[in-house]
Amino acid sequence: MTRRWGPIVTGVALALTFAVLVGLGTVGPAAGGDDPAPAAQGSAAPPSWMRKLRPGEKPPQFVLFSFDGAGSHEHWQRVLPLAEKVNAHVTGFLSGIYLLPDTRRGEYTGPGHAPGRAAIGFGGTEQEVANRIADLNDAVARGHEIGTHYNGHFCSGNEPSGSRWSTAQWTAELDQFFGFVRDAATRGLLVAENTIKGGRIPCLEGDFAALAPALAAHGLAYDSSLTSDGITWPQLRDGIWQFRVPVVRVPALAGKKVIMMDYNLWYSLNGAQEEPSRDKEFTAVTLDTYRAAYQAALNTNRAPLTVGNHFNDWSGGAFSDATEQFMAEVCVREHTVCATYAQVIKWMKLQDPEVLDTFRTMPPAQLT
Ligand SMILES: [Zn+2]
Repeated sequence: MTRRWGPIVTGVALALTFAVLVGLGTVGPAAGGDDPAPAAQGSAAPPSWMRKLRPGEKPPQFVLFSFDGAGSHEHWQRVLPLAEKVNAHVTGFLSGIYLLPDTRRGEYTGPGHAPGRAAIGFGGTEQEVANRIADLNDAVARGHEIGTHYNGHFCSGNEPSGSRWSTAQWTAELDQFFGFVRDAATRGLLVAENTIKGGRIPCLEGDFAALAPALAAHGLAYDSSLTSDGITWPQLRDGIWQFRVPVVRVPALAGKKVIMMDYNLWYSLNGAQEEPSRDKEFTAVTLDTYRAAYQAALNTNRAPLTVGNHFNDWSGGAFSDATEQFMAEVCVREHTVCATYAQVIKWMKLQDPEVLDTFRTMPPAQLT
């Protein structure tokens, strides 16, 4: 099912200013050492890379594929077999109201908004919600992760948007998200509440200081909404792991820096206009950007690479095609692990903090 999206990322998100993370020191990684081998597919045992690094060993190159608004049957049908084939584990950030049939839209009240209002569609028919529950169950059974994309997708221009919400309002939004998950459990959803460990804010618009206490109160461990200049290691702040979406130079745009998410790339290419005739061109530009970002991290700080997407058919499906092609080629590479956020957090906790700091204090990986 194709969802219609509102003007979900605006110039505000695109014009984000960044605290450039320099001055963190230039300690290089320990040299030498073997890289870990990729995990054997289909193994019930923990993957071979889920262990403490040996002295001098480099971290695996983690790639975190994450899909916002993970409610599309068609896209799950494409991603699940592909992920299985290349031994990738991905994260779907679910908009909670996709679990709510349209007839029950009045049960959601976005912070500062009237009941039944949202900037995206609700769940559709009972049958569509049932199909979605089956997709989500299938995804978690295969080892993928479900996180939250909150509910109403209120971005700049749809005020009050997330960037204006207080901790109490984020708490209300998350209370409702988990309420929809619990309600769906009575209709067969098998995504256990305690496996939902983090999320991504719609349009990346929100105040982390306001959000973090709400995340912690709901037992969540990470957020993947902030951006960073280049590719950086996750940092623990206010008890929450910050997995940042990198801002990278796009080779095809004369090195212009863009938030490495599908919508932002599209916006920078043609102002996010539907131009299906240019789909191959847009796919190529996006794929080249992903490849260069991966190579930059692999060659330098080995920071986990967040590839942020929506399940979308924008401009002839150009961006979904790029993501799927990248997944197919990168996840089977040596030294590379396509993992969920929860897996990377678990791996980080196994490491000697000083060893991780060696990598964390390196300059962010940049595309040249
Ligand atoms: Zn979104």
